[in-house]
Amino acid sequence: MSTSATGVMQDAADDWEELPSYPSAVCSGIKGDTNHPNGYHISYNDNSKNDFSTTRPDDKPPNMPSANANDASAIDMSMSSTDMAKSYKNWKRLFDDHSDPRRKYFNAVNCYSGSGEARRLDFVANTNTVASPDHKWHEHCSWRRRYARDQTARKGYVSVGRGDTKQQWEEETMSLTDRQDNMIDATATRVEAFTAKWKNEIPESGWVEDSDEVQPNHLVIKIDAMIAALARIEGVVVTLPVAGVDYELLATMVADKVRSGTITLEFVEEGE
Ligand SMILES: [Zn+2]
Repeated sequence: MSTSATGVMQDAADDWEELPSYPSAVCSGIKGDTNHPNGYHISYNDNSKNDFSTTRPDDKPPNMPSANANDASAIDMSMSSTDMAKSYKNWKRLFDDHSDPRRKYFNAVNCYSGSGEARRLDFVANTNTVASPDHKWHEHCSWRRRYARDQTARKGYVSVGRGDTKQQWEEETMSLTDRQDNMIDATATRVEAFTAKWKNEIPESGWVEDSDEVQPNHLVIKIDAMIAALARIEGVVVTLPVAGVDYELLATMVADKVRSGTITLEFVEEGE
């Protein structure tokens, strides 16, 4: 058998053992033994090519680099039931948030909330199923084989264990450009949502200026900001009241402009 544990996996396990949240944590294995004849504790080369651990796209070539073919790709972490329960909450939060970029590193985690059955949270199939009872005292986390030598995956594993939020992770790892892109997407989505709401609150006749009855101030302020943004894009000046504006079209236009980067959002680093 040629399976070995990579330095990245060993370091990840060491990092986890040192997390203050889990004083009881002791790594109980990475590389498989006779109790683990197949699966992620055994390398790609030492497994059958029909094994469940060598058939998903990130567990075999070409996604898996050839350098990883002899790597074990799972960590067993023994912990007290208190620590298992703390860890479970963090994995469950990752499992529930499909937009969390840390999910991509992991295949599945067998973990325990402290009551009921141990669970297997599968990040590829997005299933939450019963795991065998030995996972009430040890947590098994399999990584997708392509990441067995990936330092960012190691950081991701520890970040989940520490209970870091998705935002903390993004601030730690993403470039300013990527974070701006994320912010632009989020803003475009908000613009669409806001505008869909305004559309329903605008009377058929449009607004009459200075009429308290039909002119909710907060809406006017928002519309004003939209018009100003549009004016910057299109080089046109629009004045209120704006009866007859197609708000659906307006929303689409603004969202498109935000997405394509025509509107530049100012991005201020925290603490500045
Ligand atoms: Zn295991």
